[in-house]
Amino acid sequence: MNLGIAGRWALVCAASKGLGKACAQALVSEGVNVVITARGEHTLNETARQLRAINPEVTVIAVAGDISTPEGRAAALMAHEHFDILINNAGGPPPGDFREWNRDAWLKALDANMLTPIELIKATVDGMAARGFGRIINITSSAVKSPIESLGLSNGARSGLTGFIAGLARQENLASRNVTINNLQPGSFDTDRLRDNLVAAAQESGQDSEVFLDECRSEIPAKRFGSPEEFGALCAFVCSSHAGYLTGQNLLIDGGAVRSSQ
Ligand code: NAP
Repeated sequence: MNLGIAGRWALVCAASKGLGKACAQALVSEGVNVVITARGEHTLNETARQLRAINPEVTVIAVAGDISTPEGRAAALMAHEHFDILINNAGGPPPGDFREWNRDAWLKALDANMLTPIELIKATVDGMAARGFGRIINITSSAVKSPIESLGLSNGARSGLTGFIAGLARQENLASRNVTINNLQPGSFDTDRLRDNLVAAAQESGQDSEVFLDECRSEIPAKRFGSPEEFGALCAFVCSSHAGYLTGQNLLIDGGAVRSSQ
């Protein structure tokens, strides 16, 4: 299937590794020009090099910076004059007990996982509507649908974003102008973050980390973690010209892990 987005411009946040990188790879394969961001310059530049190798026809611009800061967002937005596609992503907040989280910890989580996506949408959505094409994707988490106890900062911040998006996606002059806004909810995907979190959890409970990882896989109906490439493929489809009637949705991609009929 030709996704019909070759030549478009995408801003893919937090994309030197993991799910963000997989989204950038899938978009670049479809001929989309990308601006990618991450804090660590070395890995980001290496990712940019790999993306150019996937498709030498596209332009790939790497902007190092913290997307949860005003400076980081301004630098990313200045890298190209307009964006047709926005993939909102950032690192997830740390796990813990809510009794240990002070106001600063909450503000950091809200900044990264709720307010930054809203600021980037604010900066791009009206131009998309004026041009008659826009695709905005927020990478959230299956934890919005089925909260993970230790990830309270993530549950809270991402649920706030989800509620905001549900209203925004249905506002006047967005869907009718071919601008869609959807959230992708990953379950367990084989990325550095997942491994770091699970290995830490195994160590905390005194278990062997490989045995613990096997147990986690066995609890998923698909009996495995997702591959980032599977996530990137879904992202590219939701960004495609074929997906203009899909908006305001929370798309769970989790190998069946969340037991729910809706
Ligand atoms: P990852 O493999 O650790 O990759 C995170 C990427 O984001 C890296 O490129 C990192 O680069 C960049 N990044 C982090 N904080 C940033 C910031 N403030 N500004 C700019 N770039 C930043 O993580 P992942 O597994 O792909 O997860 C991506 C998001 O999905 C996270 O919010 C995570 O909580 C969520 N999620 C993941 C899973 C999963 O199974 N993997 C499940 C549910 C939700 P630098 O560190 O160099 O900045």
